[in-house]
Amino acid sequence: MMQQYTDIKNLYKDALLFFRLGDFYELFFDDAITASRELEIALTGRDCGLDERAPMCGVPHHSVNNYINRLIAKGYKVAICDQVEDPSEAKGIVKRDVVRIITPGTVIDADLLEEKKNNYLMCLYEGSTGVGISYVDISTGELFSTEITEGNFQQSLQDEISKVQPKEIIYSSENKHVYEVLYAYQKKLDFYMNEYEDWRFEYQHACKELQEHFKILSVDGLGFHGNHLGVFSTGALIDYLKNTQKRTLNHLNKVQIYTLNTTMILDFTTRRNLELVETIRDKKKKGSLLWVLDKTMTSMGGRMLRKWLEEPLLDVKKIHDRLNAVEVIKEDILLRKELKEAFKNIYDLERLSGKISYGSVNARDLIALKNSLMSIPKIKEILCSQESCLLQNLQSQINEHREITTLIEKAILDEPSPNIKEGNMIKDGFHRDLDELRRASKEGKLWISSLEAKERDKTGIKSLKIGYNKVFGYFIEVTKSNLHIVPKEYIRKQTLANCERYITPQLKEIELKVLGAEEKIILLEYQLFLEIREIIEKEVPKIQATAHAIAQLDALYSLAEVAYENGYIKPSMNDGEAIHILEGRHPVVEKMLNNNMFIANDTYLDQKENGISIITGPNMAGKSTYMRQVALIVLMAQIGSFVPAKAAAIGIVDRIFTRVGASDDLGQGQSTFMVEMSEMANILNNASSKSLLILDEIGRGTSTFDGLSIAWSVVEYISDVLKCKTLFSTHYHELTEIEGKMKTVKNYRIAVEEEGEDIVFLRKVIEGSADKSYGIQVAKLAGLPNHVIKRAQEILIGLEEEKNTVQYSQDHKVVKDTISETSEQLNFTAFNNEEVIRELKGLNLMETTPMEALNI
Ligand code: ADP
Repeated sequence: MMQQYTDIKNLYKDALLFFRLGDFYELFFDDAITASRELEIALTGRDCGLDERAPMCGVPHHSVNNYINRLIAKGYKVAICDQVEDPSEAKGIVKRDVVRIITPGTVIDADLLEEKKNNYLMCLYEGSTGVGISYVDISTGELFSTEITEGNFQQSLQDEISKVQPKEIIYSSENKHVYEVLYAYQKKLDFYMNEYEDWRFEYQHACKELQEHFKILSVDGLGFHGNHLGVFSTGALIDYLKNTQKRTLNHLNKVQIYTLNTTMILDFTTRRNLELVETIRDKKKKGSLLWVLDKTMTSMGGRMLRKWLEEPLLDVKKIHDRLNAVEVIKEDILLRKELKEAFKNIYDLERLSGKISYGSVNARDLIALKNSLMSIPKIKEILCSQESCLLQNLQSQINEHREITTLIEKAILDEPSPNIKEGNMIKDGFHRDLDELRRASKEGKLWISSLEAKERDKTGIKSLKIGYNKVFGYFIEVTKSNLHIVPKEYIRKQTLANCERYITPQLKEIELKVLGAEEKIILLEYQLFLEIREIIEKEVPKIQATAHAIAQLDALYSLAEVAYENGYIKPSMNDGEAIHILEGRHPVVEKMLNNNMFIANDTYLDQKENGISIITGPNMAGKSTYMRQVALIVLMAQIGSFVPAKAAAIGIVDRIFTRVGASDDLGQGQSTFMVEMSEMANILNNASSKSLLILDEIGRGTSTFDGLSIAWSVVEYISDVLKCKTLFSTHYHELTEIEGKMKTVKNYRIAVEEEGEDIVFLRKVIEGSADKSYGIQVAKLAGLPNHVIKRAQEILIGLEEEKNTVQYSQDHKVVKDTISETSEQLNFTAFNNEEVIRELKGLNLMETTPMEALNI
């Protein structure tokens, strides 16, 4: 047996091998040491033919899932080794083999899956022309593929990974660049890295895998024409699934191929800063944008909404379609009510389809499927009359599945057993043989139950009882005090403390019939169940199509419900450059504040006079809230959501970038300033004129003059080169001097009112620049001890007086002048100024000293 174990273990070195022995799964050697530590179970030993006993630990087979889940959650890979032949027929040691490998990306157990979140397994292939990316959720059957062929591949790859958030990534052992990106990135996003042999990514092999899986002659049929790299990554992914799942996954029946620049690109930092799906601080959904927007009623809808939020659209027409659908649902109270009612009965059709294909569905799941499908015709009916092309389109994608509901209705009990090998699943009247067996078993049982009265009469033993146990079957039980009148034909079987148990030949004969019938019933029910499952499996693609439509409908319903509840309005979308928001609000902060305390603010950004808003104001005034609010409103509009504002006209934005506050990358060995600058570099290198930039306190992490200089030149670069819409908050009041020097820059401040020594936050964004920081007042509000506040005030007065001394003001002037000079030197647009050109042309260089030239 240990030899068999070792042979199998050698094939699955990187997995913890769960080896089936009787009623237990056992682990040996290092696996046992790891598992006993991680699962906190006892480590024992077993003779293994060596001098020392092999370390061993085990778990009961019926609760194995629980243990496996815990190991997977900790990032381990588990291989399940079962007996693959009937022990009663085996000669020698029972044959065993690995029947499934479970990794974080291949989980299908509901306990380990989040209902409203996909569980993706990603596969990457790096070729000479770029990177192929494919990812799959085997619990739902969704499979996607794309490729990166231009731009900065490291950056694009990171962006895509942070969008998909896979649980596991496989990559070729030869792809060093991909490995480097993954290795560096793994610290930010938690995924399991899994190196896979290089030959599995070879073109011929990948094609073969795809052709076999999808039963097609050429990969062109999948839509891979221009997407060559996707063939490698999808092929290797299918290969990996085949090797780990050891079965065909028929519900993976298409590849959704997409190109990268069809949705808004959001990098990791921006997603995190905007708290789209989870908060920065505790990584919880509560407090995120998704938390506000998610009123979906089904798990599928929940996943769909999340996906929409992760990839806002760029296409005005598509956004309009969603907005119009949301409007129709929002305006019609009855429609909302009917949809909500119908959704209530719909289970996770995508994951049910997955279970059907996977072969892990039970009779209760089929009842859930039936109940879900029964709500579908109603949905189709109510959508029919709606005036929205998207709703009409979804309506046409919804199938009614009447044959399936009828079949399940006829065949499966309303409350069936969850175990498909225990019978008690199939209704009477569904199958003649089954009815016959049930009748026989019932008659036998009736005969046995009538036997008790008969034998009591016959023997005169009042306490005589008929009982049943698994070892002896049916028996007649007589208490000790009555033993003397037990009839002769009773055969004694078992003696207990105060009674004896007997059988009779007739009892045994009937018992044989009853038990025989029951065994056959269980077997027949199992076979019938498999047949029913097979019929339904053929319908899986259709169920998936329905599920996909329902998911979208639920997401639209959710947006409509939220728009109605929170008083959002429909934004008007266009391909222009301007963003105009009237009385905009922050969707999350307004929810956190009670009784409409949120103060709305306007925003106007374009490429002409209002390209860059420099926003000043004390800490806590509301600068970050305001800037994020603009980003969130734009993003919401581009997913097709109504927005928290009185009116909004939004020119489509291709990317949103944020650089906000202190980063928590410090634990990863980078200084705050370094992180800030590399994020800034990413922004300046990738933003286009259609991007929206949210820059919070750039240059804060270094000395004042360095920081101010960097902030200043960043503003110039954005204004002159990138020309993208920007909100820039700053503590450097000097920066507000740019207004007037550059025509796209405008100053705004967040108003505060002084009340004696204190300040009151008005939260209103108004034109102009702040002249004071009010740091000490804010510190006071934060509860710094009075003593410290008083002392700070004294020091401040001292410093302000000192500022007037010659030394300081000279220094200060030099730096300020340098900044203005440098800025003009670097500002090449100055050369377009006719006056400057005339002056330059008029110079007599032969007569000019180097010092004069420098000054000029
Ligand atoms: P800053 O970035 O200027 O330091 P924040 O944007 O972090 O300030 O805002 C501080 C707090 O002020 C927020 O947590 C929020 O509770 C409140 N706040 C901000 N903007 C508003 C607003 N428009 N209306 C009401 N409260 C607001």
